[in-house]
Amino acid sequence: MIQGKYCLIAFPIEGPAIYTYSIPEKFENKLKIGMRVLTPFGHRIQLGYCMEVLDEHPNPDSKYKIKNIYEIVDTSPLFSKKMLQLIHWIANYYFSSPGLVCKIAHPSEKGLKRIPVYTISQEFIDDPRLNDLPKNIEGFETKFATQLSVKNQQLVELLLKEKVIQIENTWPKKASLHKSRYFALAERVDEKLNSQQFRVIQYLETLPEKRAKGSNIRKVLNISDSPLRTLRKKNIIEEIYIEDNIDPFDNDFPLRERKVVLNDDQSTVINRLNDLKKGFHPALIHGITGSGKTEVYIQLAKKKLAEGKDVLILVPEISLTPQIAGRFRSVFKEQVSIWHSQMTSAQRLWTWKQIREGRCKIVVGARSALFSPFQDLGLIIIDEEHENSYKQESPSPRYHARDTALYYGRLLDIPVILGSATPSLESWYLIQQEKIKKYELPRRFGPAIEPSIRIADMTEVPHDGILSRMLLEEIKLRLTKGEQIILLQNRRGFNSVQHCRACGKTMECKVCSVSYTYHKSIHLLRCHYCGATQEPLQRCPSCGEPLQLRGTGTQKVEEHLHKMIPGARVIRMDHDTTQNKNAHIKILNAFENKEYDILLGTQMIAKGLDFANVTLVGIINADIGMGLPDFRSSEQLFQLISQVSGRAGRGNLKGQVIIQSYNAEAAAVAMAAKGELKSFYHQELKERKELNYPPYSRLALIRIIAKDENSVKKAANDIKKCLSKQAQKIMIMGPAAAPIERIKGMTRWQIMLKSSRERDPSAAALRILIRKCSLLEKNNKVRIQLNMDPYSML
Ligand code: ADP
Ligand code: ZN
Repeated sequence: MIQGKYCLIAFPIEGPAIYTYSIPEKFENKLKIGMRVLTPFGHRIQLGYCMEVLDEHPNPDSKYKIKNIYEIVDTSPLFSKKMLQLIHWIANYYFSSPGLVCKIAHPSEKGLKRIPVYTISQEFIDDPRLNDLPKNIEGFETKFATQLSVKNQQLVELLLKEKVIQIENTWPKKASLHKSRYFALAERVDEKLNSQQFRVIQYLETLPEKRAKGSNIRKVLNISDSPLRTLRKKNIIEEIYIEDNIDPFDNDFPLRERKVVLNDDQSTVINRLNDLKKGFHPALIHGITGSGKTEVYIQLAKKKLAEGKDVLILVPEISLTPQIAGRFRSVFKEQVSIWHSQMTSAQRLWTWKQIREGRCKIVVGARSALFSPFQDLGLIIIDEEHENSYKQESPSPRYHARDTALYYGRLLDIPVILGSATPSLESWYLIQQEKIKKYELPRRFGPAIEPSIRIADMTEVPHDGILSRMLLEEIKLRLTKGEQIILLQNRRGFNSVQHCRACGKTMECKVCSVSYTYHKSIHLLRCHYCGATQEPLQRCPSCGEPLQLRGTGTQKVEEHLHKMIPGARVIRMDHDTTQNKNAHIKILNAFENKEYDILLGTQMIAKGLDFANVTLVGIINADIGMGLPDFRSSEQLFQLISQVSGRAGRGNLKGQVIIQSYNAEAAAVAMAAKGELKSFYHQELKERKELNYPPYSRLALIRIIAKDENSVKKAANDIKKCLSKQAQKIMIMGPAAAPIERIKGMTRWQIMLKSSRERDPSAAALRILIRKCSLLEKNNKVRIQLNMDPYSML
C-alpha cells in the first residue's frame, strides 16, 4: 500500500468544507498535518492548511477529479495536535471554517511577500513562451515572480522542467524591517491654506508628538495624499521615515520594579491554587480593584515556570493595559512576549518564532494570543474576564477567547484561572453551579482603602449641562493639592449629533442608520460606523429651521474643562487620539509622569490602570448606553462604573468617585455606587432567568445582509420557515430589522435562536437545528452571518 497519497486541505474561506488533494511523489513523506500547501483552487492557486494525510482516497466514488498539490510551504508543522483539535472545535462550535481559524492561529498571512522568484536562464532568453509570463520585478529583465494563476503556474512548471527558468527564492523566510512614512509639524508659516490642508495642521497639533503616520492622517481626516504633499512642498510639515520596531516590547512600556510582600489574602489564594492537583481546574479570582490580582498572577506564573511550563496571560486589549505587561516584563525579563492587534506582521512572525522555539515562556496578549505555539503550556490566566473584547464579533471565526480558553484548558488538562473585580454573569452563574471555583481578594492591597462614591443626581443638583458643581469643586480641590483626576465620558467627538428642534430630525449617515457625530477639531460630521464624513449643515434639510448641536462627547468636555478651569492640563484618550502606534501607551506614560492633571477619555480609560496619585474619578454621564436594545446593557454599565471607580485612591491617598446621572435610581448606577455587587448580580440573574436569557440559555444570532431590502426580508422569512419546521425546544425570535438597520448601505435583518441550558446543556440541539437548515449554508442573494453566543446585538 502506498503511504500518504492523499491529503485533506482547509482553506481560509467561509464554509466548513475541507477538500481532498493528492500528494505527488516528489513530496512523499514530506507533507505533515499542520503544514501549509499551495494548491490549485478554481482558477487560482490558493494557500491551504493540511488537516490530514491519508493513504487512501476518503471518498473513492466521488466524481470530482483529484488534483495534485503544487508546493509545500513549511518545513515543519505550524500547529500541534492539540492546537489542531482546538481549531476544529472553534470551527465547529462557532460555525466557522477550520481554514479561517488556522489563519488567525498563525500570523504570517498579512503583508509578508511570499512569492517565489524565478530566473530565466541566459541561453533561453529568447524562448517565445516567456512572453506569456509577467516580467514584474523592477530592474531585473531576467527575473520574475509568478502571479499565482493556474495558467502561469502550469507554464512555469513546464519551463522549470526544461530548465528554461530556475527557481531562485521560494518563500523568503525573513521578513525585513519595514519603514513607515510619518508627517510632523515643521515651522509655522503664514501661508494661505485650503480647508483640507488646514485640517491636517489642526489635527497634528492635537497630538502629543505633533506627528502621525501618513496613512493614519488620511484615514482620520478622510483625505487623499495630495494635501500632505502640498504641505510638505511648502515646508509646513516634514516627511520622515521611521523604522517599525521589531521587538513589540519597545521602550514605551512602563517597567516597574517593586518590592513584593504578599498579604494574607494573596498568600491564601496562591497556596490554594498551587496546591491543586494536576489537571483541568477552572477557577475565578474575584478580587476587588486594587486587591493585587496581578501580583497573584505573577506568583502563579513563577511556580509554573519553575516546573518548566509555559504560561499564557490573556488581557482584553494590551495597548490599554500596558502596565500589566510591563509588570510581567520587569519580573520575567525577555522570557515574556506580548501579543496584540497593533503589532506589524513582521513583529508577529518574530514573536511567534520566539514562543515556538522556547525562548519565550510567557505571553501577555490579547484574544488571539490563545493560539501561541507554546512548547508546553501549563497555565492560562484570563484577566478582566468579563470584558466583551474577548469575543471576536467580526470577521469569522466569531469566537469568545475566554470560553475557548476554558475548552483548551480541558483539552490540555491544565488550570484556567479567570480574574475580575466585576465577573461576567456567565462566570458568576458557573460559580453557583459549582463548575468554576471562586477565590476571593476582598480588600485593597496595602494601606489603600476603597474610594467613597457619591452620585450627582443631575435632575436635582446644580450643574452647567456638563459638570455638576459638586464635581467641578472636587476637581479644583485636587488640582490645588497636586493630585490627579480621571474623567470618563463614554462618547467621543464633540457634540453627539446635529439635531433640528423644530421637526426633530437628526442628521444621519446616508448609508448607515446611525446619527453623525460632530468632530470639532476637523469641523466635520462623522459616522462612527463607516467613517464617512460630511460638512455640517446650517439648516435642517427637511424644514429649513436652523440646526442645533446636541449631546456631549469627549472633545466638548475637554473644551469645557479648559473654559471652566483655565490652566488645568488635560489629556484626552479616545479613538481619535490613539490612531498612532503606541499612542495609548504614550498618553498613559505622560499622565503617570504627571505631565497632565486630568486624564479624560472613553471607556478605554476604565481598564486596569493603576496610578497612585489619582484621587478623584468622575463619570460625566453614566447614562450613555442605557436603554440600548441589549440584555447585557445593565450588567455592562454596572461593570463600567465599578471598574472606573476602581481607578481612584489606589495609593496612600483616599479616593473619591462622583457619578453624574439623570437616572440615579437605575439599579446599575445605584448599586454600583454602593458597591453592592452580590445583590446586583442576584437581581440581574433573576431577571435573566425570567426572560430565559444567557447564562440560562444560549443564543445564536443569524444576520441576513444585502443591499436590496426585499431580498433580505424574503430570505429572512424563508430561513425562519425552514427553521420552524425543525425546531422543537428552540425558540425562534424574529425575523426583524437589526437595531442598526443599515450599515454602509447594506440592509441588515436578524433572527435570534434561544436554547435553554437546562434542556440543551451543550447547545448541541441548537447547532443541529442550524446545520439542518440548508438555506443558511449557501445563499447567493444575501450574505448570512452566524454568530454563536453573540455579544454585539446592534
Ligand atoms: P488589581 O490587579 O487587583 O487591580 P494590582 O495587582 O494592580 O491590583 O495591585 C494594586 C496595587 O498594589 C499595585 O500598585 C500593586 O503593585 C500593589 N501590590 C499588590 N500586591 C502587592 C505585593 N504583594 N507587594 C507589593 N505591592 C503590591
Ligand atoms: Zn456610515
